[in-house]
Amino acid sequence: MLFRSLRQDAAVVYGDLPEPENERTRAWYAERVPPERLEPEIREALRRAERHLPISDEQALALFRAEGPALEALCAVADGLRAEAVGEEVTYVVNRNINFTNVCYVGCRFCAFAQREVDPESYTLTLEEVAERVREAVDYGATEVCMQGGIHPDLPGSFYLDLLDTVKAAAPDIHIHAFSPMEIMNGATRMGISFREFLAACREHGLGTIPGTAAEILDDDVRWLLTKGKLPADTWEEIVRTAHELGIRSSATIMFGHVDAPPHWVFHIRRIGRIQADTGGFTEFVPLPFVHQNAPIYLAGRARPGATFEESRRMHAVARILLDGLIPNVQVSWVKLGMEASALILRGGANDLGGTLMEETISRMAGAEWGIRKDPWELEAAIRGIGRIPAERTTTYGRVRRNASGEILDVAEAVPALRGAR
Ligand code: SF4
Repeated sequence: MLFRSLRQDAAVVYGDLPEPENERTRAWYAERVPPERLEPEIREALRRAERHLPISDEQALALFRAEGPALEALCAVADGLRAEAVGEEVTYVVNRNINFTNVCYVGCRFCAFAQREVDPESYTLTLEEVAERVREAVDYGATEVCMQGGIHPDLPGSFYLDLLDTVKAAAPDIHIHAFSPMEIMNGATRMGISFREFLAACREHGLGTIPGTAAEILDDDVRWLLTKGKLPADTWEEIVRTAHELGIRSSATIMFGHVDAPPHWVFHIRRIGRIQADTGGFTEFVPLPFVHQNAPIYLAGRARPGATFEESRRMHAVARILLDGLIPNVQVSWVKLGMEASALILRGGANDLGGTLMEETISRMAGAEWGIRKDPWELEAAIRGIGRIPAERTTTYGRVRRNASGEILDVAEAVPALRGAR
Protein backbone atom coordinates (compact mmCIF):
# COMPACT_ATOMS: atom_id res chain seq x y z
CA MET A 1 0.00 0.00 0.00
CA LEU A 2 2.75 2.38 1.01
CA PHE A 3 4.74 1.67 -2.13
CA ARG A 4 1.72 1.95 -4.39
CA SER A 5 0.90 5.40 -3.06
CA LEU A 6 4.53 6.47 -3.25
CA ARG A 7 4.68 5.38 -6.89
CA GLN A 8 1.57 7.40 -7.62
CA ASP A 9 3.05 10.39 -5.81
CA ALA A 10 6.32 10.00 -7.63
CA ALA A 11 4.63 10.27 -11.01
CA VAL A 12 3.14 13.61 -9.98
CA VAL A 13 5.83 14.98 -7.77
CA TYR A 14 9.08 14.21 -9.49
CA GLY A 15 8.00 15.27 -12.94
CA ASP A 16 10.20 18.36 -13.10
CA LEU A 17 13.22 17.09 -11.24
CA PRO A 18 16.16 17.58 -13.59
CA GLU A 19 18.02 14.53 -14.84
CA PRO A 20 19.50 12.39 -13.45
CA GLU A 21 17.79 13.08 -10.12
CA ASN A 22 14.50 12.52 -11.81
CA GLU A 23 15.51 9.03 -12.76
CA ARG A 24 17.08 8.27 -9.42
CA THR A 25 14.10 9.31 -7.36
CA ARG A 26 11.58 7.77 -9.72
CA ALA A 27 13.53 4.55 -9.83
CA TRP A 28 13.78 4.38 -6.08
CA TYR A 29 10.07 4.66 -5.56
CA ALA A 30 9.15 2.52 -8.54
CA GLU A 31 11.36 -0.41 -7.58
CA ARG A 32 9.55 -2.96 -5.48
CA VAL A 33 12.25 -4.91 -3.74
CA PRO A 34 11.09 -8.47 -3.10
CA PRO A 35 10.83 -9.13 0.65
CA GLU A 36 13.09 -12.18 0.34
CA ARG A 37 15.90 -9.88 -0.92
CA LEU A 38 15.14 -6.98 1.38
CA GLU A 39 14.94 -8.88 4.63
CA PRO A 40 18.50 -10.29 4.59
CA GLU A 41 19.78 -6.84 3.62
CA ILE A 42 17.97 -5.19 6.55
CA ARG A 43 19.07 -7.95 8.92
CA GLU A 44 22.69 -7.55 7.84
CA ALA A 45 22.50 -3.74 8.16
CA LEU A 46 21.08 -4.01 11.68
CA ARG A 47 23.59 -6.68 12.67
CA ARG A 48 26.41 -4.32 11.68
CA ALA A 49 24.76 -1.22 13.20
CA GLU A 50 24.34 -2.74 16.64
CA ARG A 51 28.04 -3.59 16.63
CA HIS A 52 28.89 0.01 15.67
CA LEU A 53 30.15 -1.14 12.28
CA PRO A 54 29.63 1.16 9.28
CA ILE A 55 26.83 0.28 6.89
CA SER A 56 26.81 0.90 3.14
CA ASP A 57 24.55 3.37 1.32
CA GLU A 58 22.62 0.41 -0.10
CA GLN A 59 22.07 -0.96 3.39
CA ALA A 60 20.94 2.47 4.62
CA LEU A 61 18.46 2.58 1.74
CA ALA A 62 17.22 -0.87 2.66
CA LEU A 63 16.56 0.41 6.20
CA PHE A 64 14.46 3.20 4.70
CA ARG A 65 12.22 0.46 3.27
CA ALA A 66 11.75 -1.35 6.58
CA GLU A 67 8.12 -2.14 7.32
CA GLY A 68 6.24 -4.18 9.92
CA PRO A 69 8.57 -6.37 12.03
CA ALA A 70 11.61 -5.01 10.16
CA LEU A 71 10.66 -1.46 11.17
CA GLU A 72 10.28 -2.55 14.79
CA ALA A 73 13.70 -4.22 14.63
CA LEU A 74 15.21 -1.04 13.14
CA CYS A 75 13.75 1.10 15.93
CA ALA A 76 14.93 -1.38 18.59
CA VAL A 77 18.52 -1.24 17.29
CA ALA A 78 18.39 2.57 17.13
CA ASP A 79 17.02 2.63 20.69
CA GLY A 80 19.93 0.47 21.84
CA LEU A 81 22.47 2.79 20.22
CA ARG A 82 20.72 5.74 21.87
CA ALA A 83 20.97 4.08 25.29
CA GLU A 84 24.68 3.40 24.77
CA ALA A 85 25.36 6.95 23.56
CA VAL A 86 23.40 9.03 26.07
CA GLY A 87 21.70 6.74 28.57
CA GLU A 88 18.10 6.99 29.75
CA GLU A 89 17.78 10.77 30.00
CA VAL A 90 15.51 12.61 27.61
CA THR A 91 16.48 16.24 27.42
CA TYR A 92 14.66 19.48 26.66
CA VAL A 93 15.52 23.17 26.83
CA VAL A 94 13.41 25.94 28.37
CA ASN A 95 13.46 28.51 25.62
CA ARG A 96 11.46 31.09 23.72
CA ASN A 97 11.17 31.42 19.97
CA ILE A 98 11.21 34.98 18.67
CA ASN A 99 10.42 35.23 14.97
CA PHE A 100 11.16 38.94 14.65
CA THR A 101 9.67 39.45 11.18
CA ASN A 102 7.68 37.36 8.73
CA VAL A 103 8.27 39.77 5.84
CA CYS A 104 10.23 37.94 3.18
CA TYR A 105 10.40 37.98 -0.60
CA VAL A 106 12.74 35.03 -1.12
CA GLY A 107 9.77 32.92 -2.13
CA CYS A 108 10.69 29.44 -0.91
CA ARG A 109 7.98 27.19 -2.28
CA PHE A 110 7.60 25.16 0.93
CA CYS A 111 7.20 28.22 3.18
CA ALA A 112 3.84 29.38 4.52
CA PHE A 113 5.44 31.75 7.05
CA ALA A 114 6.66 34.49 4.67
CA GLN A 115 4.38 37.45 3.94
CA ARG A 116 4.67 40.50 1.74
CA GLU A 117 4.75 43.77 3.62
CA VAL A 118 1.24 44.66 2.41
CA ASP A 119 -0.27 41.36 3.54
CA PRO A 120 -2.60 41.70 6.55
CA GLU A 121 -0.70 39.08 8.55
CA SER A 122 2.76 40.61 8.02
CA TYR A 123 4.63 41.96 11.02
CA THR A 124 8.05 43.19 12.08
CA LEU A 125 8.80 43.51 15.79
CA THR A 126 10.45 46.69 17.04
CA LEU A 127 13.59 46.28 19.12
CA GLU A 128 11.56 47.28 22.20
CA GLU A 129 9.05 44.50 21.43
CA VAL A 130 11.93 42.04 21.10
CA ALA A 131 13.31 43.21 24.46
CA GLU A 132 9.88 42.78 26.04
CA ARG A 133 9.64 39.19 24.77
CA VAL A 134 13.11 38.47 26.13
CA ARG A 135 12.14 39.83 29.56
CA GLU A 136 9.02 37.64 29.50
CA ALA A 137 11.21 34.66 28.60
CA VAL A 138 13.47 35.34 31.58
CA ASP A 139 10.44 35.62 33.88
CA TYR A 140 9.28 32.28 32.52
CA GLY A 141 12.66 30.74 33.34
CA ALA A 142 14.08 30.42 29.84
CA THR A 143 17.80 29.83 29.42
CA GLU A 144 17.70 30.36 25.64
CA VAL A 145 16.08 32.59 23.06
CA CYS A 146 15.87 31.24 19.53
CA MET A 147 15.62 34.03 16.96
CA GLN A 148 14.94 33.58 13.26
CA GLY A 149 13.03 35.69 10.80
CA GLY A 150 12.23 36.35 7.17
CA ILE A 151 14.66 38.08 4.81
CA HIS A 152 13.14 41.56 5.05
CA PRO A 153 14.12 43.66 2.02
CA ASP A 154 14.43 46.93 3.96
CA LEU A 155 16.37 45.84 7.04
CA PRO A 156 20.15 46.41 6.93
CA GLY A 157 22.64 43.69 7.82
CA SER A 158 23.46 45.60 11.01
CA PHE A 159 19.89 44.87 12.19
CA TYR A 160 21.05 41.38 13.18
CA LEU A 161 23.69 42.95 15.44
CA ASP A 162 21.07 45.34 16.86
CA LEU A 163 18.89 42.35 17.70
CA LEU A 164 21.76 40.68 19.56
CA ASP A 165 22.51 43.90 21.48
CA THR A 166 18.84 44.21 22.38
CA VAL A 167 18.67 40.67 23.78
CA LYS A 168 21.90 41.04 25.74
CA ALA A 169 20.78 44.38 27.20
CA ALA A 170 17.49 42.80 28.33
CA ALA A 171 19.01 39.55 29.63
CA PRO A 172 22.81 39.43 29.77
CA ASP A 173 22.95 35.76 30.78
CA ILE A 174 20.54 34.28 28.29
CA HIS A 175 21.95 32.07 25.53
CA ILE A 176 21.23 33.41 22.04
CA HIS A 177 20.59 30.70 19.47
CA ALA A 178 19.93 32.67 16.33
CA PHE A 179 20.14 33.21 12.58
CA SER A 180 19.99 30.41 10.06
CA PRO A 181 22.72 30.12 7.43
CA MET A 182 20.31 31.91 5.05
CA GLU A 183 20.13 34.88 7.42
CA ILE A 184 23.90 34.82 7.89
CA MET A 185 24.36 34.97 4.13
CA ASN A 186 21.89 37.85 3.98
CA GLY A 187 23.55 39.79 6.82
CA ALA A 188 27.05 39.33 5.43
CA THR A 189 25.98 40.28 1.90
CA ARG A 190 24.17 43.40 3.05
CA MET A 191 27.14 44.52 5.14
CA GLY A 192 29.58 43.72 2.32
CA ILE A 193 31.71 41.46 4.54
CA SER A 194 32.62 37.77 4.52
CA PHE A 195 30.63 35.07 6.33
CA ARG A 196 33.54 34.75 8.74
CA GLU A 197 33.58 38.49 9.50
CA PHE A 198 29.83 38.59 9.95
CA LEU A 199 29.78 35.55 12.24
CA ALA A 200 32.67 36.95 14.27
CA ALA A 201 30.78 40.26 14.64
CA CYS A 202 27.68 38.35 15.76
CA ARG A 203 29.75 36.46 18.31
CA GLU A 204 31.14 39.77 19.61
CA HIS A 205 27.55 40.97 20.02
CA GLY A 206 26.53 37.92 22.03
CA LEU A 207 25.57 35.18 19.57
CA GLY A 208 26.00 31.77 21.23
CA THR A 209 24.97 29.14 18.65
CA ILE A 210 23.17 29.04 15.31
CA PRO A 211 20.26 26.86 14.20
CA GLY A 212 21.24 24.56 11.36
CA THR A 213 17.98 25.29 9.58
CA ALA A 214 17.71 26.20 5.87
CA ALA A 215 19.47 22.87 5.24
CA GLU A 216 16.22 21.40 3.84
CA ILE A 217 17.82 18.64 1.75
CA LEU A 218 21.49 19.22 0.92
CA ASP A 219 21.04 18.42 -2.75
CA ASP A 220 20.92 21.28 -5.24
CA ASP A 221 18.36 19.66 -7.55
CA VAL A 222 15.92 19.27 -4.69
CA ARG A 223 16.81 22.73 -3.38
CA TRP A 224 16.08 24.23 -6.77
CA LEU A 225 12.53 22.90 -6.63
CA LEU A 226 12.01 23.92 -3.03
CA THR A 227 13.74 27.27 -2.90
CA LYS A 228 14.75 28.27 -6.43
CA GLY A 229 18.36 27.95 -5.39
CA LYS A 230 18.30 30.58 -2.62
CA LEU A 231 21.17 29.01 -0.73
CA PRO A 232 23.20 26.31 -2.49
CA ALA A 233 24.10 23.26 -0.43
CA ASP A 234 27.82 24.12 -0.61
CA THR A 235 27.13 27.60 0.78
CA TRP A 236 25.09 26.15 3.66
CA GLU A 237 28.03 23.88 4.44
CA GLU A 238 30.58 26.69 4.12
CA ILE A 239 28.65 28.88 6.58
CA VAL A 240 28.19 26.06 9.08
CA ARG A 241 31.84 25.01 8.87
CA THR A 242 32.92 28.64 9.30
CA ALA A 243 30.70 29.00 12.37
CA HIS A 244 32.17 25.83 13.88
CA GLU A 245 35.70 27.06 13.17
CA LEU A 246 34.87 30.23 15.10
CA GLY A 247 33.62 28.17 18.05
CA ILE A 248 29.95 28.83 17.26
CA ARG A 249 28.20 25.48 17.43
CA SER A 250 25.00 24.66 15.56
CA SER A 251 22.27 22.12 15.22
CA ALA A 252 21.83 20.15 11.99
CA THR A 253 18.45 19.60 10.36
CA ILE A 254 16.79 17.78 7.50
CA MET A 255 13.35 18.71 6.14
CA PHE A 256 11.87 15.69 4.41
CA GLY A 257 8.71 14.40 2.80
CA HIS A 258 8.13 16.85 -0.10
CA VAL A 259 9.90 16.31 -3.46
CA ASP A 260 12.70 14.21 -2.04
CA ALA A 261 13.40 10.49 -1.86
CA PRO A 262 15.42 8.27 0.48
CA PRO A 263 18.64 8.45 -1.60
CA HIS A 264 18.69 12.18 -0.85
CA TRP A 265 18.22 11.43 2.85
CA VAL A 266 21.17 9.08 2.93
CA PHE A 267 23.46 11.55 1.13
CA HIS A 268 22.25 14.38 3.39
CA ILE A 269 22.92 12.50 6.62
CA ARG A 270 26.30 11.30 5.33
CA ARG A 271 27.24 14.90 4.54
CA ILE A 272 26.24 16.05 8.02
CA GLY A 273 28.36 13.20 9.41
CA ARG A 274 31.39 14.27 7.36
CA ILE A 275 31.13 17.86 8.61
CA GLN A 276 30.82 16.59 12.16
CA ALA A 277 33.85 14.33 11.78
CA ASP A 278 35.88 17.41 10.79
CA THR A 279 34.52 20.02 13.22
CA GLY A 280 32.60 18.37 16.06
CA GLY A 281 30.39 21.45 15.98
CA PHE A 282 26.90 19.96 15.71
CA THR A 283 25.01 19.70 18.98
CA GLU A 284 22.17 17.58 17.62
CA PHE A 285 20.48 16.27 14.49
CA VAL A 286 16.86 17.32 14.05
CA PRO A 287 14.63 15.62 11.46
CA LEU A 288 11.79 17.96 10.49
CA PRO A 289 8.91 16.36 8.59
CA PHE A 290 7.52 18.73 5.95
CA VAL A 291 4.29 20.42 7.11
CA HIS A 292 2.35 20.55 3.88
CA GLN A 293 -1.11 21.96 4.61
CA ASN A 294 -0.47 25.60 3.63
CA ALA A 295 2.79 25.15 1.73
CA PRO A 296 2.63 26.70 -1.77
CA ILE A 297 4.45 23.76 -3.38
CA TYR A 298 1.88 21.34 -1.98
CA LEU A 299 -1.08 23.57 -2.85
CA ALA A 300 0.29 23.72 -6.41
CA GLY A 301 0.21 19.92 -6.53
CA ARG A 302 4.00 19.63 -6.78
CA ALA A 303 4.82 18.02 -3.43
CA ARG A 304 3.48 15.12 -1.52
CA PRO A 305 1.70 15.68 1.80
CA GLY A 306 4.63 15.36 4.14
CA ALA A 307 6.27 12.25 5.50
CA THR A 308 4.18 9.38 6.85
CA PHE A 309 4.58 8.54 10.53
CA GLU A 310 6.46 5.39 9.54
CA GLU A 311 8.86 7.48 7.46
CA SER A 312 9.45 9.75 10.46
CA ARG A 313 10.20 6.71 12.62
CA ARG A 314 12.63 5.40 10.00
CA MET A 315 14.29 8.81 9.61
CA HIS A 316 15.05 9.18 13.33
CA ALA A 317 16.20 5.57 13.61
CA VAL A 318 18.40 5.57 10.49
CA ALA A 319 19.88 8.95 11.50
CA ARG A 320 20.80 7.46 14.90
CA ILE A 321 22.54 4.59 13.10
CA LEU A 322 24.34 6.66 10.44
CA LEU A 323 25.47 9.29 12.97
CA ASP A 324 26.48 6.74 15.61
CA GLY A 325 29.73 7.88 17.22
CA LEU A 326 29.46 11.31 15.57
CA ILE A 327 26.40 13.18 16.89
CA PRO A 328 25.09 11.87 20.22
CA ASN A 329 21.79 13.72 20.21
CA VAL A 330 18.83 13.10 17.88
CA GLN A 331 15.92 15.44 18.49
CA VAL A 332 12.27 14.76 17.78
CA SER A 333 10.17 17.84 17.07
CA TRP A 334 6.92 17.83 19.07
CA VAL A 335 5.80 20.88 17.09
CA LYS A 336 5.90 18.94 13.83
CA LEU A 337 4.81 15.51 15.12
CA GLY A 338 2.77 16.01 18.29
CA MET A 339 3.51 14.52 21.70
CA GLU A 340 2.07 11.06 21.12
CA ALA A 341 4.11 10.40 17.99
CA SER A 342 7.17 12.04 19.57
CA ALA A 343 6.95 9.69 22.56
CA LEU A 344 7.02 6.69 20.20
CA ILE A 345 9.98 8.10 18.30
CA LEU A 346 11.82 8.60 21.60
CA ARG A 347 11.71 4.78 21.78
CA GLY A 348 13.29 4.50 18.34
CA GLY A 349 16.56 6.42 18.46
CA ALA A 350 15.70 9.95 19.63
CA ASN A 351 16.77 11.37 23.00
CA ASP A 352 15.78 15.04 22.93
CA LEU A 353 12.44 16.84 22.76
CA GLY A 354 13.69 20.29 21.78
CA GLY A 355 12.35 23.42 23.42
CA THR A 356 9.32 24.67 25.30
CA LEU A 357 9.20 27.49 22.68
CA MET A 358 6.54 29.74 24.33
CA GLU A 359 5.46 30.77 20.83
CA GLU A 360 5.82 29.05 17.50
CA THR A 361 4.92 30.76 14.27
CA ILE A 362 6.63 28.99 11.39
CA SER A 363 5.09 25.52 11.76
CA ARG A 364 1.74 26.94 12.90
CA MET A 365 1.41 29.04 9.74
CA ALA A 366 2.34 25.99 7.66
CA GLY A 367 -0.58 24.12 9.19
CA ALA A 368 0.91 22.18 12.13
CA GLU A 369 -1.73 21.40 14.73
CA TRP A 370 0.29 20.54 17.78
CA GLY A 371 0.27 23.82 19.65
CA ILE A 372 2.79 26.57 20.08
CA ARG A 373 4.17 26.00 23.57
CA LYS A 374 4.75 23.32 26.16
CA ASP A 375 5.46 23.91 29.80
CA PRO A 376 8.39 21.95 31.25
CA TRP A 377 6.04 19.79 33.35
CA GLU A 378 4.20 18.69 30.19
CA LEU A 379 7.43 17.55 28.55
CA GLU A 380 8.57 15.89 31.78
CA ALA A 381 5.27 14.02 32.16
CA ALA A 382 5.53 12.70 28.61
CA ILE A 383 9.12 11.58 29.23
CA ARG A 384 8.24 9.83 32.49
CA GLY A 385 5.27 8.26 30.71
CA ILE A 386 7.67 6.21 28.58
CA GLY A 387 9.82 5.25 31.57
CA ARG A 388 12.72 7.59 30.87
CA ILE A 389 14.35 10.33 32.91
CA PRO A 390 13.62 13.98 32.09
CA ALA A 391 16.58 16.36 32.16
CA GLU A 392 16.57 20.07 31.45
CA ARG A 393 19.54 20.98 29.30
CA THR A 394 21.31 24.06 28.04
CA THR A 395 21.48 24.77 24.32
CA THR A 396 24.79 22.89 24.15
CA TYR A 397 23.60 19.93 26.24
CA GLY A 398 24.91 20.94 29.63
CA ARG A 399 22.48 20.41 32.52
CA VAL A 400 20.32 22.93 34.38
CA ARG A 401 19.31 22.32 37.99
CA ARG A 402 16.45 24.25 39.59
CA ASN A 403 14.93 24.47 43.04
CA ALA A 404 11.28 23.70 43.77
CA SER A 405 10.26 27.25 42.81
CA GLY A 406 11.94 26.93 39.43
CA GLU A 407 14.93 29.17 40.16
CA ILE A 408 18.15 28.03 38.55
CA LEU A 409 20.56 26.54 41.11
CA ASP A 410 23.40 25.78 38.77
CA VAL A 411 24.25 25.14 35.16
CA ALA A 412 26.83 22.52 34.23
CA GLU A 413 28.00 23.19 30.70
CA ALA A 414 28.92 20.23 28.51
CA VAL A 415 32.56 19.71 27.66
CA PRO A 416 33.02 21.37 24.28
CA ALA A 417 33.53 18.86 21.49
CA LEU A 418 34.66 21.39 18.91
CA ARG A 419 37.79 20.54 17.01
CA GLY A 420 40.07 23.22 15.62
CA ALA A 421 37.93 26.20 16.68
CA ARG A 422 39.72 29.53 16.43
S1 SF4 B 1 11.93 29.81 4.36
FE1 SF4 B 1 12.82 31.72 5.16
S2 SF4 B 1 13.87 32.64 3.38
FE2 SF4 B 1 12.42 31.11 2.55
S3 SF4 B 1 10.55 32.28 2.12
FE3 SF4 B 1 10.32 31.42 4.20
S4 SF4 B 1 11.05 33.05 5.55
FE4 SF4 B 1 11.79 33.54 3.49
